[in-house]
Amino acid sequence: MIDVTKNKVDIAQYNDLLNLAISSNTKNTRNIKRLSPFIRNAYRDYDKIIGRYHLEPTASRFKKNKKIIEDYYTSSPVAIDNELSKIRKRRLCQCPFCGRPCKPRILDHFIPKSHWPEFSILRNNLVNQCNSCSSKKWNHYYCNTNKTAKFIHPYYSNLLTKVNFKFIFDTSSCTNIIGASIDLKIIISRGVRGRSRRRIRKHLYELDIKKYALEYAKDKYEDILEDASYKEVDMVNRLEEDIKIANRKSSNHWDGRIFEAMLANADIKGYLVQHQP
Ligand SMILES: [Zn+2]
Repeated sequence: MIDVTKNKVDIAQYNDLLNLAISSNTKNTRNIKRLSPFIRNAYRDYDKIIGRYHLEPTASRFKKNKKIIEDYYTSSPVAIDNELSKIRKRRLCQCPFCGRPCKPRILDHFIPKSHWPEFSILRNNLVNQCNSCSSKKWNHYYCNTNKTAKFIHPYYSNLLTKVNFKFIFDTSSCTNIIGASIDLKIIISRGVRGRSRRRIRKHLYELDIKKYALEYAKDKYEDILEDASYKEVDMVNRLEEDIKIANRKSSNHWDGRIFEAMLANADIKGYLVQHQP
C-alpha cells in the first residue's frame, strides 16, 4: 500500500478548519466560538489517542453539542467546504487503507465523528478512502474484545506499506480460460513482528481486504480477456508495460501483482498470445 504519512499535518495546522468555522457566518457561529477552546483542548489529545491504540478513547464530552460541531462538516460553510474538497481530491492512485487502485474520494473520519464529534473537522482525522473500505469501516474504531483499535491510521504509521499481495491464477481444473480460479496470499514483510504484525492482520481482517482484492482481480481478469478477444492489441506486451507503470506507482500495486500472476500462468499467457492481432 502507499505511504501517505506525509499527509499528516503539523500541530500548528490543527486549528485551521476550526478557525474557519469561527470566522464563518452561520447560525451556530456563536456556539462554535463558545465551544472552540474546549475543542482545541481535545485536539491536543488526538495524537495520544492514535498512539495509544490499545486503549479505548475516553467518551466524548461533546455529545450534547454533536449536531453543532458535526454540521461544520456535513453542511460546511464555503471556506471549509473548499478545504475539504482539496483533501478529497488529493492526487492518490490507491486507497490508503487497502491499496485498491482507484481515486479514493470518500473522506473517512478515522476517529468516528458520530462518537467523537470534536474531531469532525480536524485535518488529521480526515483520511481518503475507497467505497469498499468505507462500507466496512463506517463508524467503527475500537475493538473491546481484543482491546485494540481495529485499524491502522495511514497518516501516523507506514506499517501498511509492509503488506504485499501475491495473486495466483489456477487453470488446472477449468475447461474455459474464463473459469480460472484466483487465490491471494497477503504477505507481511518478515521484518514486521509481534504487535505490529498483529495490528496489520487485524486491519486486513476488519476491512475484509482479501475478499475485495480477489473481486477486483476477477474483474480485471475478465476485462483483459475480453479486450484480448478483439485481437486488436498485443495483450502480453500491454500487460508487461502496465506492470512497469504499476511498479512505478508503488512496489505492491495490485495491478502489477495481478498482471504478473496472469503472465506466470502458461495457459493464460498462451491464450493472450493466440489472440494477438
Ligand atoms: Zn480501500
